[in-house]
Amino acid sequence: MSQQTYQPSLQRITVLGSTGSIGTSTLDVIGRHPDRYDVYALTAHTSKEALLAQCLTYRPAVAVLDSEADATWLRLELKRVGQPTEVNAGPEALCDVARDASVDCVMAAIVGAAGLLPALAAAEAGKRVLLANKEALVMSGALFMDAVSRAGATLLPIDSEHNAIYQCLPAEHRGGLARHGISQLMLTASGGPFRTWSQADINNVTPEQACAHPNWSMGRKISVDSATLMNKGLELIEACWLFDATPEQIQVVVHPQSVIHSMAAYQDGSVIAQLGNPDMRTPIAYGLAWPERIDAGVETLDLFQVARLDFEAPDEARFPCLGLARDAMQQGGMAPVVLNAANEVAVDAFLQRRVGFTAIGQLVADVLSRPFHGHVDSIESVLATDQWARQQAQEMVARWSA
Ligand code: NAD
Ligand code: MG
Repeated sequence: MSQQTYQPSLQRITVLGSTGSIGTSTLDVIGRHPDRYDVYALTAHTSKEALLAQCLTYRPAVAVLDSEADATWLRLELKRVGQPTEVNAGPEALCDVARDASVDCVMAAIVGAAGLLPALAAAEAGKRVLLANKEALVMSGALFMDAVSRAGATLLPIDSEHNAIYQCLPAEHRGGLARHGISQLMLTASGGPFRTWSQADINNVTPEQACAHPNWSMGRKISVDSATLMNKGLELIEACWLFDATPEQIQVVVHPQSVIHSMAAYQDGSVIAQLGNPDMRTPIAYGLAWPERIDAGVETLDLFQVARLDFEAPDEARFPCLGLARDAMQQGGMAPVVLNAANEVAVDAFLQRRVGFTAIGQLVADVLSRPFHGHVDSIESVLATDQWARQQAQEMVARWSA
């Protein structure tokens, strides 16, 4: 009998936000499997030197930067070494590389609202979408999920908690949790760097302290979100959309070791958890290879070294952003859009030292308390509300930092 060697099919990939934390981890996994993955496009905002280095290693067909001036620079550098990568600029070019007919899979790893349109373009084009950019789903949940099902796209969550839950659920889980015997999703949270700090100490934290996460190495915006627990709030909203859950069906559990990445509780009393070292290459490799499994370059968990797992309830008095996000999801409509936009402005102002750490939650609460309306019925209305909320937040920052 002849033995056939297994030959995986080659996937063509666009990595949106390739120079970021998720982007570089994605390229690390891709680089381990040249027989499986071929890079079609790489994109960055302003990090042109980092993008040049990635272009030289991964030889994409297309590279995208934000400004025409940066694109011209990259074009000249690549031409100098005789590399034929096409270089484009601007937000529309991001959508083009996300929907290109030759692309199989898109890693959506741009941070913030800027990632919404290209992630949506990938979904509308029916791609395999690896979604790291949670803000896209927070802003446009219903529209995004609708685009995925209409176009027959495959949506795989990369956020470690959602990836964990995905692994703990039955393969077909649409139509509400109860239908599949699931009573609750348990979203774990590290608690961030200030988990044990007093309110008085939290009032004075610096951007450097907020960005020094105890377990994960991440971009600056998500690091601050993790410190305020807004990240868990955004993830609660993300989980509602991904798994057809209500906010009441999601329990946030602070688990400082970040070894259990999340859990699903079933009606029969079973709780299924996914565990692993805190390394984003695991969920990224899962998304890339699904339904198969590939080496991610991550060590197997050493349970003797972990030794113990702790759990506690989140303190929503010191970390009000989690409750703000839950309320926004319960309120529905444009509230999550307003929450996300105000938070992006507030985090940016904190990173620029224009406002203090606790101002982030206050600012988001204040913008959410103003009258806004509109339905999430088109992407244009979502973007209009996003702009309105940003403007409100920016005016407040200007006043507070004057
Ligand atoms: P990052 O800041 O390290 O990288 C962001 C990437 O997006 C960079 O390549 C940057 O050039 C690009 N970018 C930024 N602004 C842009 C704009 N206006 N237009 C086009 N491109 C732009 O961020 P990250 O930590 O890699 O996070 C990326 C996304 O993944 C975020 O939505 C985050 O919430 C999510 N996520 C990250 C982690 C993590 O461990 N880092 C975990 C879960 C989810
Ligand atoms: Mg996460």
